[in-house]
Amino acid sequence: MTSYKINEVFESIQGEGAFTGVPSIFIRLQGCPVGCSWCDTKHTWTVDPDKQLSAAQAMAENNESDHWFTCDTDDLLTLFTQQKYQAKHVIITGGEPCMYDLHGLTDGLLAADYSVQIETSGTFEVKANPKSWITLSPKINMQGGYEVLDQVLQLANEIKHPVAMSKHIDELDTLLQRQQHSQDVLIYLQPISQQKRATELAVSTCIARNWRLSLQTHKFIGIE
Ligand code: SF4
Repeated sequence: MTSYKINEVFESIQGEGAFTGVPSIFIRLQGCPVGCSWCDTKHTWTVDPDKQLSAAQAMAENNESDHWFTCDTDDLLTLFTQQKYQAKHVIITGGEPCMYDLHGLTDGLLAADYSVQIETSGTFEVKANPKSWITLSPKINMQGGYEVLDQVLQLANEIKHPVAMSKHIDELDTLLQRQQHSQDVLIYLQPISQQKRATELAVSTCIARNWRLSLQTHKFIGIE
């Protein structure tokens, strides 16, 4: 059974995109080489062998630590029970979760009657059960030098694009030209860090294009 390097597991409410408001269990995987300057989970970037903990130690820690632990799917399902989690929706996030082969994890979660969402930058091939909901938050021209892959673009159920400037809309337009089922995919614009100018740009563009606005609502109410 595949073992995953995990930064944290917690239960909260999904604050962004199509599942906004849905009680969810978050599995945050460790590791990401994409290098977004405004990343709010930089503590997940590196898998430092000296930072490995046991699952029990990691679950007792505060969030935003660069510690990590390993778990396979059965361990995670046991952890959900131990923690008395009630949510039936699981969000696999990061870091960049698609650095991992997620077939074992997504198969196991779906078999246990959870719905599964994967949040990815699109820069690594998605290897997961096809019933997983794919949230693509495309990271374009970041310092890691990774490209958004066609495979992820075609699998995406929603594209949640971070915006601060009009060039970000242009980048999304260029990306969508490669999208083969654009009628079926939900498009969200998400203002970066809730900046005023970014929010105004996102609102006016959503109205003009009939796209949707995604706000990081968890940040407004001070939850993770
Ligand atoms: S892809 Fe996600 S985790 Fe990686 S640097 Fe960008 S925002 Fe951070």
